[in-house]
Amino acid sequence: MHPELIRVAEVPQLPLPEDPVLQHAALATGLLGPNMIGMTFGYGIYICHGHRTKWLLSHEFRHAFQYEQAGSIAAFLPTYLQQIVTVGYHNAPFEIDARAHEVHDT
Ligand SMILES: [Zn+2]
Repeated sequence: MHPELIRVAEVPQLPLPEDPVLQHAALATGLLGPNMIGMTFGYGIYICHGHRTKWLLSHEFRHAFQYEQAGSIAAFLPTYLQQIVTVGYHNAPFEIDARAHEVHDT
């Protein structure tokens, strides 16, 4: 709804929480493992160096839309994290929705 607010930062790796308990939880759930190359917080998007592709950006932009629909980061994240914990990253409804809106070059 407001793509002009989106900011993309290319980083060497996704930032991990400094709190050891949160860091362990993020890694144990696969939320921020070594295979993760993108992460969206509201309109802020982190992309790992070398992975700024149309499909990944379109995936993360959909997450920005999901945040807009939820109304705030605080409103979105608990639901998203609960999905990750209960059904896993791949089967989380917000992830399925984001994958369905990826744009692929063919
Ligand atoms: Zn995603």
